[in-house]
Amino acid sequence: MSESTQICPQCASEQNYFDGTFTVCLECGHEWDANNASNTDELVVKDSNGNLLANGDDVILIKDLKLKGSSQVLKKGAKAKGIRLVEGDHEIDCKVDGMKIMLKACFVKKA
Ligand SMILES: [Zn+2]
Repeated sequence: MSESTQICPQCASEQNYFDGTFTVCLECGHEWDANNASNTDELVVKDSNGNLLANGDDVILIKDLKLKGSSQVLKKGAKAKGIRLVEGDHEIDCKVDGMKIMLKACFVKKA
């Protein structure tokens, strides 16, 4: 992947533009240095088995996870398709059962 779509480090939106100095997010208004942000391509995120994860991978939950702010529980074995890696303590941006959520890499394994 040499050509990367800029992803907002704040809200993970791809709706953004480069204003000549900074990349500006249309969703949340966050501005960041695109040169620094390009480092996100080199994010090293490993699953619970120590396998490297990449954008577009499918992962499987290895334990039940309670969703913050709700009584819903994501079941162990649920699959997240086409994950996106982001910076932060929840490194995986994905959808499980149609819900957009953030996961910690230590709670999943590569499918
Ligand atoms: Zn944003």
